[in-house]
Amino acid sequence: FPPERIRNFSIIAHIDHGKSTLADRLLELTDTISSAMKNKQVLDKLKVERERGITVKAQTATMVQEYKGEKYLLNLVDTPGHVDFSYEVSRSLAACQGCLLLVDACRGIQAQTLANFHLAFAQDLVIIPVINKIDLPTAEPERVVKQIESLLEMDSSSILQISAKSGMNCEGIIPSIIENIPCPTGNSKAPLRALVVDSWFDTYVGVISLMSIVDGTVKKGSAIMSANTGKRYEITEVGLMRPHGTPTTALYAGQVGYVVCNMKDAHELMSGDTFFDPQEPVEALPGFQVPKPMVFAGLFPMDTDDFTRLQEAITKLTLNDSSVQVKKETSTALGQGWRIGFLGTLHMDVFRQRLEQEYGAEVIITQPNVLYKERKTELLEPMVLATIVSPSDCLGQLLELCNSRRGEQQDLSYIDDTRVLLRFRMPMAEVVTDFYDELKSRSAGYASFDYEEMGYEHSDLVKMDVLLNSKPVDALAVIMHRSKTRYAGRELAAKLKRVIQRQLFEVAIQTSVNNKVIARETVSALRKNVTAKCYGGDVTRKMKLLNKQKEGKKRMKSIGSVQLSQDAFYTLMSKD
Ligand code: GDP
Ligand code: MG
Repeated sequence: FPPERIRNFSIIAHIDHGKSTLADRLLELTDTISSAMKNKQVLDKLKVERERGITVKAQTATMVQEYKGEKYLLNLVDTPGHVDFSYEVSRSLAACQGCLLLVDACRGIQAQTLANFHLAFAQDLVIIPVINKIDLPTAEPERVVKQIESLLEMDSSSILQISAKSGMNCEGIIPSIIENIPCPTGNSKAPLRALVVDSWFDTYVGVISLMSIVDGTVKKGSAIMSANTGKRYEITEVGLMRPHGTPTTALYAGQVGYVVCNMKDAHELMSGDTFFDPQEPVEALPGFQVPKPMVFAGLFPMDTDDFTRLQEAITKLTLNDSSVQVKKETSTALGQGWRIGFLGTLHMDVFRQRLEQEYGAEVIITQPNVLYKERKTELLEPMVLATIVSPSDCLGQLLELCNSRRGEQQDLSYIDDTRVLLRFRMPMAEVVTDFYDELKSRSAGYASFDYEEMGYEHSDLVKMDVLLNSKPVDALAVIMHRSKTRYAGRELAAKLKRVIQRQLFEVAIQTSVNNKVIARETVSALRKNVTAKCYGGDVTRKMKLLNKQKEGKKRMKSIGSVQLSQDAFYTLMSKD
């Protein structure tokens, strides 16, 4: 296929607006998959994606379609819609010249529609607006057309109105892609420049990378070199994703396909890296900005014997998700583990779920936190600009929520007569807790949310200590805004009381800030006589019970003079 007959595009949308359904529909229309497989969401390959119904990893599929007597190679990149994964979206877009912007005809433009639109706009892509779900009785396509005109300033004549589910009007999509989206501009004869878009680990062949061939050609047997590491490899296989890997003789300029080479170590590959021919070195492509993790949590094996196995699983998983940051950490309470940086809390949950499902690893994840910075004696906290789109009848509730999370209103405008757009500057720490859940519950699920980083800001942050019989427990100390300490202090003390086993002596639980006690709870003493029931009974049984008690004590971690079991720590430190 010459570049003139190649189209690289992606579908961007707010979550649930129908990307995966439309992707499957296009695969079916081009006979890439048989219609028996339709509506099975062929592109959502990961188990966690199928279970949660969301797309986490961008997936690629190549289709062939005849149009006006010519065959075209159409390369579709499915993208995730959730705020935590906008990094995946920009990566996918880097391999495209255009995209379909999908909007639900009932819900209209949502927070991530705007975010994704801006990502595509910033990369100079041709954007084709598509209104989906027009088959639904509650569809209001005319209203959505007006929103697209006013909010995105797009020409309404180019808008397609479809139902990805029923197939209505879908036959117009491919002609629109071929006619409106420009072809890639590469030259197959020029020196090789290939951009690594994604990579993953396959148990049989090792590291597989998805590459966008900007210029030149790659084929089996030829040599390539990484601009990032300077290492040289032999290519063992190339092919297209249709939607499963299908070997081809070569990949040419303008194509996006997979490349397998003799790479042993997953660490040698980085998304955004450029590969070239060792005989003809070229300058590296711009690549991508590596996203900064915003949310940090401790991760520990449930069973300490699993440490090495878990380490391997984490290494393989981070190859497929370079936005995760990993550092070893040892906690007095939980033993050896890692401190992991995530883009957001959904990202964190998905990472944990993938460890469990794809690697059979059982792990404990501690409460997530943001990264504070210290400047002189002041603490700075990360801020975000939150964008919320919501029905206007729950405006009051949402304003109250944002204000209670230390938000500062930046913008309030009406999208149309029933919808409002809010912008708040607020601390990231307030967003990583249960902000999203609260937002959903206060809007009956209708409000949508997105955020972007806004730098660091000085704030009245304090460290809240936890003391057991007057001895501080470092593992339980937390940093928070002063205004939150009263409530959080009481809650933590009460939670501790519930999980601390009764000891042979009284335990005083205190939470304090700057040595000033906020809350106090007491666990009364207990004298447990395990042999009482064996009075006068047989001696071996008595010994057995005493030994058992001794073993149980060994398993306890001694913190100060108070015994806190590992289980108690798990309960206290893990996410509810
Ligand atoms: P994604 O999150 O953007 O990938 O959205 P999905 O493709 O997973 O679709 C979300 C939900 O909307 C699923 O339950 C789909 O069956 C449904 N859906 C998608 N397109 C249509 C459509 O055209 N009409 C109707 N009625 N439902 C649709
Ligand atoms: Mg999807």
